[in-house]
Amino acid sequence: TEHPNPADPKKKTIVILGSGWASTSFLKSIDTDLYNVVVVSPRNYFLFTPLLPSCTVGTIDVRSLVEPIRFITRHKSNEVKVYEAECTEVNPEKKVITIVDNSEVKGDNATSTIPYDYLVIGIGAQSQTFGIKGVEEYGCFLKEVWDAQKIRTKLMDCIETAAFPGQSPEEIERLLHMVVVGGGPTGIEYAAELHDFLVEDLTHWYPELAGKIKITLVEAMPNVLPAFSKQLIDYTESTFKQQNIHLHTKTMVKEVREKEIIVQGPDGNKEAMPYGLLVWATGNTSRPLVKNLMAQFPETQNIRRGLAVDDWLRMAGTNDIYALGDATATKYAPTAQVAAQQGKYLARVFAQLHATEYYQIQAEESTTPEDKAKNMRKLQKAQDIKPFHYSHQGSLCYIGSDKAIADLPFGPGNLASGGVATYAFWRSAYISNLFSARNKWLVITDWTKKTFWGRDISRE
Ligand code: FAD
Ligand code: NAD
Repeated sequence: TEHPNPADPKKKTIVILGSGWASTSFLKSIDTDLYNVVVVSPRNYFLFTPLLPSCTVGTIDVRSLVEPIRFITRHKSNEVKVYEAECTEVNPEKKVITIVDNSEVKGDNATSTIPYDYLVIGIGAQSQTFGIKGVEEYGCFLKEVWDAQKIRTKLMDCIETAAFPGQSPEEIERLLHMVVVGGGPTGIEYAAELHDFLVEDLTHWYPELAGKIKITLVEAMPNVLPAFSKQLIDYTESTFKQQNIHLHTKTMVKEVREKEIIVQGPDGNKEAMPYGLLVWATGNTSRPLVKNLMAQFPETQNIRRGLAVDDWLRMAGTNDIYALGDATATKYAPTAQVAAQQGKYLARVFAQLHATEYYQIQAEESTTPEDKAKNMRKLQKAQDIKPFHYSHQGSLCYIGSDKAIADLPFGPGNLASGGVATYAFWRSAYISNLFSARNKWLVITDWTKKTFWGRDISRE
């Protein structure tokens, strides 16, 4: 079946894929008086990813970090169509996309096509496994709401299973071994949250088991957090040591089995490491739709990391497809900060594209030379679209025990800080960046609740 005609046939239609940092920021700024807008995303909400590691141990509830995408669209001046569906195919020649309802409940019809004038791709990336055997099957990723819920459930299950009568000491040791693979910010923040949960809550609830819980972080490179300054890397590693988090650097995971991982240490020797819970955080790789699209433009799309775009975020090799955020391969790191700035920028590009078309017609239809000159000036201004410029606001990472690290741009240089005061800054920065007043209220409530009553250990 075909998508019904767009709301206003006089306006061009922009189809936006995704409801993450990039697409949401674009959607907030795009002027629906100028364009018909359609949003397609398999999840009908925006997720504030920076605080997601806190959901894995119940410091924050996942509901506090999400806001429905219709929260934005219903406040727009014109109707925006929202479809909870996955885009499975883009046909750049016909300018049509195929969408599929992949959710549990399906109606008689679960496939449709949508025509577009412009396509904006903000579908993010998926978790990287490097094709290592067993990762998909036995590891837990940390990217989406359901990942955090799965980790929380599995963590409590491991602990309760270790408490089951008659469990052998070796099996207890295995079940209570929590392994994190990847020393990027995701892995570090997860290990930090797990440490806090252990020290602040589990020791009281499971006094006989808590001492046996072990946290290990495995990183392939010589140190963790390669994007941070050297002194903050050292500070993180020494804080982890104090927190008794076992750090294995220069160690590669070669294979994942149901109850053990095979790791290769700096000496080149392989050994089996039994585990109860495995959290896999080794970065991003392109989604199938992005790979599929790249294959359609073999001459211009040859960076494996993601879609190649020009400085105006137009997908290389195309005229009417734009891409932003983690779905792209640019000189910027795949972060929320970059994605959000790109979204806002792209909405401005579209305002100028509209103005260009408008003043082109006005200039052609001008009746007097003065009018023509005026419209030509306006046309030139509209055509002068500045390339995307990223303004880095700094990098933050939570490292446990109420300590955070921050690399902040300061004049021409960088201000590196770490500790409890930085954590206070970390908290206020995240609160002020949260999506809505409701989210801010809920997160502050979650933090307060935790301070008074600790975290909830019930299995979800
Ligand atoms: P996403 O936010 O991932 O959104 C992608 C969207 O596309 C989703 O709505 C998804 O459902 C949808 N989608 C997927 N497939 C399809 C399809 N086929 N069709 C249509 N829609 C589709 N960055 C920071 O700057 N600071 C931080 O503190 C920070 N912390 C992080 C913590 C964690 C745990 C994680 C995982 C990431 C963190 N990041 C952080 C990185 C940041 O979340 C990403 O860079 C950001 O989400 C990228 O935005 P995006 O819009 O490109 O992708
Ligand atoms: P990442 O790419 O930053 O880090 C992945 C780490 O895994 C690397 O250090 C890599 O060396 C290691 N690794 C890869 N393969 C391995 C293997 N087989 N065995 C052991 N280690 C292996 O990934 P991430 O932490 O998921 O972050 C993704 C993006 O999101 C980054 O751009 C990051 O900056 C951003 N992010 C930011 C924050 C924050 O600012 N606080 C938090 C989370 C994520």
